[in-house]
Amino acid sequence: VVARAAVVVTGTEVLTGRVTDRNGPWLAEQLRILGVDIGQIVVVGDRPADLASALRFLTSSGNDLVITSGGLGPTADDLTAGIVAAVQGRELQLDPELEQQITRIVERLSAERGWHTDPESTAAATRKQAMVPRGAQVLPPVGTAPGLVVPPAQGSGPPVLVLPGPPAELQGMWPAAMGDPLIQAALSGREELLQSTARLWGTPESELAATLRAHRDELDGLEITTCLRDGELEIVTRYSPDAQPAYARLQAALAADFAPTLFSADGATIDEIVAAGLLGASATIATAESCTAGLLAGRLADRPGSSAYLLGGFVTYANQVKQQLVGVPAELLETVGAVSAEVARAMADGARQRLGTTYGVGITGIAGPGGGTPDKPVGLVHLCVSREGRALERRIVVPGSRAHVRARSVVVALHLLRELLAS
Ligand code: ATP
Ligand code: MG
Repeated sequence: VVARAAVVVTGTEVLTGRVTDRNGPWLAEQLRILGVDIGQIVVVGDRPADLASALRFLTSSGNDLVITSGGLGPTADDLTAGIVAAVQGRELQLDPELEQQITRIVERLSAERGWHTDPESTAAATRKQAMVPRGAQVLPPVGTAPGLVVPPAQGSGPPVLVLPGPPAELQGMWPAAMGDPLIQAALSGREELLQSTARLWGTPESELAATLRAHRDELDGLEITTCLRDGELEIVTRYSPDAQPAYARLQAALAADFAPTLFSADGATIDEIVAAGLLGASATIATAESCTAGLLAGRLADRPGSSAYLLGGFVTYANQVKQQLVGVPAELLETVGAVSAEVARAMADGARQRLGTTYGVGITGIAGPGGGTPDKPVGLVHLCVSREGRALERRIVVPGSRAHVRARSVVVALHLLRELLAS
């Protein structure tokens, strides 16, 4: 069996949606990296009874470790340590050494930040944060709050790892938490959860479903999740090591049925594939973007090391700028209009020639919500990717918001680039 952990995210601000939970997803991914499965993520408000019942549920549903986030601060709504102590059957007691440590931290912070604090309330807040369940391990504070590893009082049941709420503090404390002997013992001796990803471009979900149905009997032990993201069909599979042959059968089935659209069999992202393609060919690239106005150049530049291939880009929003910056002929703009295959091609070639790059990209479209006509509706985008002697063109009509039209155009451009790089 695979080791399994659960998370309780505390905070009324998270429960009510004022703050988007960043700790649950981050912890889920860190656990996956360690090969640990995630059983549940439960969000509770700053209410003692709700936190206690969530902890009782999660410590009794087959989890090897339960992690809490938040509620370690000095204010009255920060009650996690006390509730965890009660659920684990341990008393809270003052840790004088920790109290001193927190005092020093608060003094340093006050000096650095010029806080004027009332000594009595500071001392009370510090004492509250230094209350530790008897027998718990203390993890050194990253901010002011220490973390805790609280074993169950009576033999059975998982330890509870108590982490602070601010994401930077929680993340900063993670390495120390994973180095704690109690946590290592809780997660050791189990199998490691594996996760593999494959991605398709241009296959509808229904066709994938048919393939999965046809091979159902060979795929035992795989937890397959398919999800449509940015127009890509992403297939994420989680499995224990003994189901590796079943995953190999899934890979074979995908390769057999979807060879033309299976652009990533090993989990590589489109960004990684395009970057590797450009680097491998020692090629360079320039963009000319109208409706996306720099989003593609920005996406390419998101990757460290992109200066090896991205020379630059033109934001050619107005017709006049399309003429001036990348040399789109005025007659072309008059006869076929800015949103046309011809102009996309002229933009790609123009960007490439102006900067002397191997590859050029042109994107021109109507992001909306206004500006559509019967032959050129909102969401119509023409794209072109070119190099000397060869160009790939695409016309798409993207439904949805302005933001969606622009975002999808960038992904389509990346896939066109991938195709041209491979040809
Ligand atoms: P503090 O000493 O700051 O009170 P704490 O451990 O008690 O630390 P919380 O009070 O729960 O943590 O949260 C402090 C702040 O950290 C919240 O106001 C919020 O901005 C941020 N935060 C807490 N939990 C989350 C979360 N799950 N996702 C994103 N941000 C969070
Ligand atoms: Mg708080």
